[in-house]
Amino acid sequence: MPITPLHYPLAFVLSKTGKRFLLPGVVVGSFIPDIEVPLMWIFFSDLPDHLFLHSLVGAVLAGTLLAVLATWFFYPPIISALFQVNKQDLKDSCSLSYMLVLSCLIGVLSHLLLDYPMHWFNPILWPWVNPYDVVGPLVLFFAPYGPINGTAFRLANAFTSVIMVVAWIAILVYYRKRNLWRNHWLGKSSSESAQ
Ligand SMILES: [Zn+2]
Repeated sequence: MPITPLHYPLAFVLSKTGKRFLLPGVVVGSFIPDIEVPLMWIFFSDLPDHLFLHSLVGAVLAGTLLAVLATWFFYPPIISALFQVNKQDLKDSCSLSYMLVLSCLIGVLSHLLLDYPMHWFNPILWPWVNPYDVVGPLVLFFAPYGPINGTAFRLANAFTSVIMVVAWIAILVYYRKRNLWRNHWLGKSSSESAQ
């Protein structure tokens, strides 16, 4: 992973590609696959720490389901408490709907898309393809500078993280005087959400 929250900028951009996509679902979906990492460390330390939720089959099925539940039940109370975004508007966006499921699916897929280039092993096609046979292209690009599970991975990770931080700053600066937290976490103006 880049640090999990750094998946936000890609999720934000993708949420803008469809008028009806729900930013909360895309954002939560983009964070969800990494919840398996600490669990793998604790319970399955002999297995790769990215596995089930970082595979296409696991992300699409379990990742999307977890993201829908997390967005539906936890997003409105947490975001309204922390960022003073209108709770009812959040609830309207986050209630169970076909669009919420689709938005969460886009989010989890965006997580895999961002993780893949910068990891030296990828369980994308697990359980059919060994994760260690799938090396990210960015890691291969940096391979002349060191081992793929060492320096090359760290350079690929740093490169991806820098791009995401710059993108995030751009989002914050662009919206700083335009209802920042509403646009950041809900992604709709009041008039749009009233429709
Ligand atoms: Zn990840």
